[in-house]
Amino acid sequence: MNSTVKKDIRALTKKELQQFFVSKGDRSFRGSQVYDWLWNKGVHDFDAMTNLSKETRAHLEEHFVINHIEVDSLQKSNDGTIKNAVKLHDGYVVESVLIPTGSRSTACVSSQVGCSLDCAFCATARLKRMRNLNPDEIYDQVVAIDRESKLYHDRPLSNIVFMGMGEPLMNYNNVLASVEKITSDEGLGMSPKRITLSTSGVPKMIKKLADDEVKFHLAVSLHSAIQETREQIMPFAKNFTLEDLRESLEYWYQKTKRRITYEYIVWKDINDTQKDIDALVQFCNYVPCKVNLIEYNPIDDGDFQQASSAATDHYIKALENNQIPVTVRRSRGKDIDAACGQLANKSKT
Ligand code: SAH
Repeated sequence: MNSTVKKDIRALTKKELQQFFVSKGDRSFRGSQVYDWLWNKGVHDFDAMTNLSKETRAHLEEHFVINHIEVDSLQKSNDGTIKNAVKLHDGYVVESVLIPTGSRSTACVSSQVGCSLDCAFCATARLKRMRNLNPDEIYDQVVAIDRESKLYHDRPLSNIVFMGMGEPLMNYNNVLASVEKITSDEGLGMSPKRITLSTSGVPKMIKKLADDEVKFHLAVSLHSAIQETREQIMPFAKNFTLEDLRESLEYWYQKTKRRITYEYIVWKDINDTQKDIDALVQFCNYVPCKVNLIEYNPIDDGDFQQASSAATDHYIKALENNQIPVTVRRSRGKDIDAACGQLANKSKT
């Protein structure tokens, strides 16, 4: 039997593992033992499960494979940021980043190989979507970063952002399953309040998040509150309009009472006029929110350029005058292409 027809044992829940053994006439306790090897001891080989009999190990080998990720290369930035190139079982590579700031250690994880969307300013968008990551491939990135945080910065991971490669809401079920594991006591036991999912804005799925009563935070990559402009820089916005986005965010707030973060880059000659500022302020009035102004990380030949600091200051003033909280996010890990929008497996090409 080759590995493509065997099932990935890590896709099974603890209960399913227990049921597997019971269905073979064994005890459910075996399932717990295997679970412990897979998730607490992190082994990648059935033969390493030394408290199981030889027959049981052979039996597992016959039915399952253990698909796991491997940190293929690790790059360290001058500012402490660490970027992992993570190799998946089928050879694809995604990237995840550890960002230390103050007392925090934040993991930025990928949710897809490539991306389904087509933001013109993002390096990942050029890779096209190859496939979705499964829940444990996402979870494993977090575990790897947690280990590195302890090793290099002497503290465990404190926050997680779904801001790596991919659009998390286009891989909804797997992303939510990974969060389930990250927050469960059998996983990392992390509070969902320390997790932020960032989306380009998929209205239907934002509503679904609200319906599913998720407990993590939501960030939306807005970048323009003018439909025409947004379509130019994020072409998928033709289908996911600002009007639908607004409606979905109102729905989210009504259900969760949690304010939204809007991520926003100010570019020269794209969204640096008073009209753009007014539109953003207007949009911010719909739902309680805060604005995170992100520094642009150039990825290309200069189609996009960071606006002047005066333009950014105008934004800040206007937002503050309207009592809308605003922060400016400085980029981290630029020297190793680990900053927002720069994740494109460059080390592989
Ligand atoms: N697809 C999701 C998550 C991945 S992108 C989303 O769009 O939100 C994470 C963040 O990086 C988004 O806010 C995105 O707009 C931003 N980003 C993309 N390219 C960038 C670049 N070149 N410079 C700075 N930020 C960028």
